Amino acid sequence: MEKELINDLSCIVCKNERLIEQDNFLICEACQRHYPIIQGRPILTAAAAEKNNDAVKPLIEAASALQNRHLVPQWEHDPSFDDLENYYFNKLFPHFNRRDPHWSFLGRKVSEMVKSVPKGAKVLDIGAGECKYGALFQHCKYVGTDLVYSSDRHDFSRIDLLSDASALPFCEETFDVALNLVVMEHVPDPDLTVREMARVLKVGGLAYALIPLVRPEHLPPFDFHRFTRYGIERIFEKNGLQIEGIEGSNGALWTAAYYLNLIAQTTPLTRFGRRNLRGVLLNRFWRFALSPLMAYARWSNHNYGSEFPIYYWVRASKK
Ligand SMILES: [Zn+2]
Repeated sequence: MEKELINDLSCIVCKNERLIEQDNFLICEACQRHYPIIQGRPILTAAAAEKNNDAVKPLIEAASALQNRHLVPQWEHDPSFDDLENYYFNKLFPHFNRRDPHWSFLGRKVSEMVKSVPKGAKVLDIGAGECKYGALFQHCKYVGTDLVYSSDRHDFSRIDLLSDASALPFCEETFDVALNLVVMEHVPDPDLTVREMARVLKVGGLAYALIPLVRPEHLPPFDFHRFTRYGIERIFEKNGLQIEGIEGSNGALWTAAYYLNLIAQTTPLTRFGRRNLRGVLLNRFWRFALSPLMAYARWSNHNYGSEFPIYYWVRASKK
């Protein structure tokens, strides 16, 4: 393991800031708890600390399945950042349409965020998953952490370590920037998650979060919450992060059009099957019928209904 990363780690139980690497374990010097290192990635969770074999076994299996550490893809040319929005869409989210107001909003926000982070800054991506944002932070020291479960659909092989968002294994005031992007709906205890994010940030450090107000249930059964603007303000302020700005990703009409389109696309297919001609034709019909509404919603996007976005984009600083 990298020396610098080990130096930033702390024991999640006794909070001691010295861990030693030995025989595929990270060992806490104070309480002697052993955290296993699998394929170069330490598992720093409560189950590992307490040697709860039933709970830690699936994590070890999932981590063992991550055979190759994929390197974060390099920029294909000098990143002038003018192309960042294009990069974001073409490389990171190829399946999403950049004409969708909420995705183009996110492209703009991510672009602004990356530009504002100085070279060499320490960036922690909490719930990093596939570490897609790592590609945008190559001028920084980027650390990705998540809990890994066996998944054919997602490639977690770029994460640096396994940990729980509500018990981060890092020393206080370690990071300049913390990312919490579409994670808050998946954590059992949002309060604790924000408190931990604040703890590992340096004073004046920035937290960025992307939090859904409305989204269909996803990643079952790990989908627990949706948040209003005022709920976000309360949780952040209460736990030591001062809100610098909360913006909705799009207006109400786009949210409505987006959902009608989503329902139209999935319902007949679900009912008749993907290969059934009737289902496919019905889907085509619905998409065609909805297209004027989609076009109008796109055009009038931010004109009204700011209290009904799909996501909130949050920027906050540690007090
Ligand atoms: Zn300890």
